[in-house]
Amino acid sequence: MGEAGDKAFFQPLSGMEVPRFAAPATFMRLPHVPLDHARIGEVEIGIVGIPWDGGTTNRAGARHGPRQMRDMSSMIRRMHPVTRRVPFDAANVADLGDVSVNPAGLEDTLGRVEGFYRRLAEFGIAPLTAGGDHLTTLPVLRGIARRQPVGSIHFDSHTDLNDSYFGGCKYTHGTPFRRAIEEGLIDPRRMVQIGIRGTMYDGEDYEFARSVGARLIPIEEFRERGLAAVMAEVRQIVGAGPTYVTFDIDFIDPAYAPGTGTPEVGGPTSYEAQACLRALDGLDVIGADVVEVSPPFDPSGNTAFLGVSMMFELLCVMTGALERRRG
Ligand code: MN
Ligand code: MN
Repeated sequence: MGEAGDKAFFQPLSGMEVPRFAAPATFMRLPHVPLDHARIGEVEIGIVGIPWDGGTTNRAGARHGPRQMRDMSSMIRRMHPVTRRVPFDAANVADLGDVSVNPAGLEDTLGRVEGFYRRLAEFGIAPLTAGGDHLTTLPVLRGIARRQPVGSIHFDSHTDLNDSYFGGCKYTHGTPFRRAIEEGLIDPRRMVQIGIRGTMYDGEDYEFARSVGARLIPIEEFRERGLAAVMAEVRQIVGAGPTYVTFDIDFIDPAYAPGTGTPEVGGPTSYEAQACLRALDGLDVIGADVVEVSPPFDPSGNTAFLGVSMMFELLCVMTGALERRRG
């Protein structure tokens, strides 16, 4: 837990002092504190990159997400425009760097990611992750949720609840939440998916969600009932218990987020996505991620900027949760 005197170290570099296009890029211009750093024990929220897309079944490229997201995150300023919260004053936040992944080894990478997040759990650091494809969420949950299943708020155009691909392959970015439920990492009765749409392989993933009591909110229902009503239900489903938020950038319409491997039309705007995350304030969010940003499909960096803007919203929700847990 940081002392008052430590706060200066954990502040982002100010754009009033060093221009925002200058200096090496870290997430939100925060100090880089790798796991062997002397001050790792003071970090309360750690921002981590997982530059890996070995779970991708279609168009690859999310391995390049963390680097472009770090670059675009220099656009982020200190203060939330609505709540006026400054997350960097509320908690010690740092860029912990990237997990050392193996681009040629799926099972090896799952083990490396899980090991990294176990270390974070030992340090008591709440993780905010930039993927990577959506399979990276599974080893993150293995690292932080093995003692107690967590609630899950999942923004995505896909359920990622498929059983297997290509004749028995259990680990792709279309299967992580099926595995997480099977492994007891997520409590399906405290699980909700928002924004689901797009053409389907079949309805088996929907059937599975129903069979385990997970709530699935397709985009049509989101549109018909409205954002406020849907988010009120989301809050009710996860309740006061520890909750993980996972945000696939393809939740947002490809008009705003073209830089992703598996886009689906008919999605929410970037403003609606911000409003969804702001509606999570007050929940006990113990960790979060933004995944599937794929820079090769959007060299402009706009999708990466959208992604890190979502991360800033999530960071504000997480610092609120941290302050409440401190009492
Ligand atoms: Mn996904
Ligand atoms: Mn998706």
